[in-house]
Amino acid sequence: MRAQRDFYEFTDVFEQIFLAAPWPMLMLGEDGAVLGASDEFGPGAEGTARGDSRGDAPLRSRAAHYVAALRGRVPWLTPQEADSVRTLPSGALVYERLHVRRTPWGASLVVVDQTDLRQLQTSDIQTARLAALGFMVAGVCHEVTNPLTSLHSIVQILRAEKQPSRELLDKGFDNIAVNVKRILDISRRLVKFSRVGDEPRFRFAVDEAIEEALYVLRQDDLLCHVELQYRPDATMTVFGNTGQIREIFLNLFVNAAQAMSGRGTLSIQTRSADRMVEVLISDTGPGVPTEAVGRIFEPFFTTKSRTHGTGLGLAISTEIAHEHGGSIELRHTDSRGASFCVALPKERA
Ligand code: ADP
Repeated sequence: MRAQRDFYEFTDVFEQIFLAAPWPMLMLGEDGAVLGASDEFGPGAEGTARGDSRGDAPLRSRAAHYVAALRGRVPWLTPQEADSVRTLPSGALVYERLHVRRTPWGASLVVVDQTDLRQLQTSDIQTARLAALGFMVAGVCHEVTNPLTSLHSIVQILRAEKQPSRELLDKGFDNIAVNVKRILDISRRLVKFSRVGDEPRFRFAVDEAIEEALYVLRQDDLLCHVELQYRPDATMTVFGNTGQIREIFLNLFVNAAQAMSGRGTLSIQTRSADRMVEVLISDTGPGVPTEAVGRIFEPFFTTKSRTHGTGLGLAISTEIAHEHGGSIELRHTDSRGASFCVALPKERA
């Protein structure tokens, strides 16, 4: 191949480029094969890669991982950017941003380490989340106090009876089970929300998160009698954490299925709107009760029975959407159903 031959003929020139480049750099052929790596050049390298002081592997051996992070988009027709997360032998995570540019022989791939920046961003997100949780604390105390007070009373009643009847015991245990479940529901949701790990963000097709959420609903038999109107569109990509975005869809789909009591039509439409992807989720339930419309995004606001709702679904989903630079809104509601619109950015916020 002429281009590859050129590359090898001009190795000296490329050595100068490698040495001048402020970041590690790989030269790739049309087929993704490694033609050269910057850590194989320069003083002390003498054709062998140096690896680095953190015990990281030589660049050449990381190429396959990077190409996979770029989702294997070879040949390199257009400039591309992607994020990569790797684990060092020490167990530490390395966050890198990959920049691919077309060259006559294939592509150049520059690897920019963003681990420090990433840690800063994570702590910003953590602070925002803790602030949101702080805002919820008064509500949490209130919500948890009610079932705890019930539990306390039931125990007192059962204790006071020397020989409680079977009926009283059954009622007591049912009551205890319901109240304990409620406290567990609340605490599980909050624990999940407060967990700010190193959730990596990528560009991905929003369908992936939608499909995963639908899968969970199917497993829970929530869609048995629901007609699904949904046409996946792989071109609708968003930037974010798949797991967190799936959580948003899961909450909205569960709400829709519950509103329709498991029977009706759930329609999911995705469309591109400027720098955002909008997902419109509509159901054929009875709509949001008029008196509830202004309050549904408040933490702990629910119109459902204590066993079905914690009132945290929309509050937590909104928080996640905001963290991603997106939003959730109630687009439409009447007695024939409700529509919620989730807007998520296409690119890094
Ligand atoms: P929860 O589902 O635990 O009640 P959410 O925050 O998810 O908590 O929802 C809050 C309230 O918003 C619900 O109790 C319900 O009144 C209303 N709601 C949400 N989605 C719908 C929907 N698709 N149709 C009708 N009402 C809805």
